[in-house]
Amino acid sequence: MIKKVDHIGIAVKDLNQALKLYEGLLGLKVTETEVVEEQKVRVAFLPTGDSEVELLESTDPDGPIARYIEKNGEGIQHIAFRVDNLDEKLAELKAKGVRLIDEKPRRGAGGARIAFLHPKSTFGTLVELCERK
Ligand code: ZN
Repeated sequence: MIKKVDHIGIAVKDLNQALKLYEGLLGLKVTETEVVEEQKVRVAFLPTGDSEVELLESTDPDGPIARYIEKNGEGIQHIAFRVDNLDEKLAELKAKGVRLIDEKPRRGAGGARIAFLHPKSTFGTLVELCERK
């Protein structure tokens, strides 16, 4: 049901500073940057092999990424798994008692449909399920 690790989300305070490392020193290339208004975040995707790194910078001091950094510091914020049928997967997980943050998919960066599982049900890691066309 899980196809692969789609991406790893890394919360950063300053996207341009982070890109100096990821692009300038590690040699990854940004394929896409986007502001996702509803999540108050600016994201950059950097493909690496079959998966991507997603750098997330808050656009609002009260946004979820700003709050995450305040509490935990910068670093890995979530891991995203690619699924084929997100609605079906969410219904199945809910039926099996997994705590969901999103009972209905929402729009993610790059036109993906995404939903988060609660870290209380995933051994402390914020898990995103991600469906792409
Ligand atoms: Zn993500």
